[in-house]
Amino acid sequence: MITTRVAELLKTAGNGQAVEVRGWVRTRRGNKQVAFIAVNDGSIIHNIQVVADMEKFSEDSIKKVTTGACISVKGKLVPSQGQGQSVEIQADEIHVLGEADETFPLQKKGHSMEFLREIAHLRPRTNTFGAVFRIRHHMAFAVHKYFNDRGFYYLHTPIITGSDAEGAGEMFQVTTLDLHNLPKNPDGSINHKEDFFGKATNLTVSGQLEGELGAMALGLIYTFGPTFRAENSNTPRHLAEFWMIEPEMAFYDIKDNMDLAEDFLKYLVRYALDTCKDDLEFLNSMYDKGLIARLQSVVDQPFERLTYTKAVELLETCGQKFEFPVSWGTDLQKEHENYLVEHFKRPVILTDYPMTIKAFYMKQNDDGKTVRAMDILFPWIGEIIGGSQREERYEKLIQRVRDMKIPEHEISWYIDTRKFGTCEHAGFGLGFERLILFITGMTNIRDVIPFPRTPKNAEF
Ligand code: ATP
Ligand code: MN
Repeated sequence: MITTRVAELLKTAGNGQAVEVRGWVRTRRGNKQVAFIAVNDGSIIHNIQVVADMEKFSEDSIKKVTTGACISVKGKLVPSQGQGQSVEIQADEIHVLGEADETFPLQKKGHSMEFLREIAHLRPRTNTFGAVFRIRHHMAFAVHKYFNDRGFYYLHTPIITGSDAEGAGEMFQVTTLDLHNLPKNPDGSINHKEDFFGKATNLTVSGQLEGELGAMALGLIYTFGPTFRAENSNTPRHLAEFWMIEPEMAFYDIKDNMDLAEDFLKYLVRYALDTCKDDLEFLNSMYDKGLIARLQSVVDQPFERLTYTKAVELLETCGQKFEFPVSWGTDLQKEHENYLVEHFKRPVILTDYPMTIKAFYMKQNDDGKTVRAMDILFPWIGEIIGGSQREERYEKLIQRVRDMKIPEHEISWYIDTRKFGTCEHAGFGLGFERLILFITGMTNIRDVIPFPRTPKNAEF
């Protein structure tokens, strides 16, 4: 039988009606006369209080109602005598469905995030991770809603890819070859003809290239799927497996692209503020008293937009000492991005980066030096979105491919779009976990995905 969830019960007026609830015991306290059991079923951050009159229950039957145990309770929903909840359950029957003994690791509160990461199979049962994963769900739903409401089509791009155009060196290889007995070509290289796909394949680092193919047919598309990067970046902002949202739009230029990205981010933050109130209030009170105010400020203000060149001028003349020196042509470091966001006190969109530090597919500006890239920098996070207007001119694109020594035959299918009905188009990639980091105020990206994959870590 399906029982009522706690989120529903807490919205219901208690007038003695019979209810049944199932969930996990957070705490049990009380005395010889009465036991108070806080039950959480994951539907909401709040527990429902179960009151067991010890005249009705033997001490033995209550003994196994311990922190972590799974129980079912039948009783009456009544107005609560105590503080902190409007209703509680006056228990008639309590059954222990699954015991948890004193070795259950979440006995008391106040575990470190590091410890909780080691027990990632149990941490969803904490208030914090319950809140984070509920918010994560709502954000995923909001992503689909945003695009669906605006006529975008969800395109499923492949996870196994035959091209490594974008991620040279950063990709996980996919193979069914026997690593202890690799088939070799006469010259000693590995014979991938014998591999599952008859060629070398990898896990995707981005769905963009295939996304563009979709946009050239459906007009407006987005992808939302897992991406994989074998970069050895042990930072609080990088995962080896993360989820990315990548819209791609025919007939959009870089300005349209920026407008969409800004509107999209504001929509998502507003959606969180409207939909995830209880969880955000919990995180705000527990970890980060500035969280909700910071979210609100992103919604309220226009993002600052400036070119990379202007940003570098500002960084060079601001008088601040940086660990990494900055000059035109270098990639901006985290400290530079932070400075810019703090300087403008709002998210910043940087555009028109040097061609040499950006990908081959970005549209070249007439100055011959810069491309129509746009990165969005967020308070706390740094880069949250990377995007660009795409180079739609065949000659320009093929020249870049050759200059960068990208094997043409491997992406001939991509280049084809510039031969057959090419048009102006643009898109961007939003790292889903970076968004969740910002929304939840968590400080480590390992704490916003249920089972993080990072260098030397693929437990669970
Ligand atoms: P960074 O400089 O922070 O490594 P990037 O330039 O490699 O980012 P892109 O290739 O533009 O990032 O990817 C688009 C978005 O995907 C980024 O803006 C970011 O939000 C997210 N992202 C990139 N790499 C990672 C990662 N390893 N883990 C989580 N999110 C990532
Ligand atoms: Mn990177």
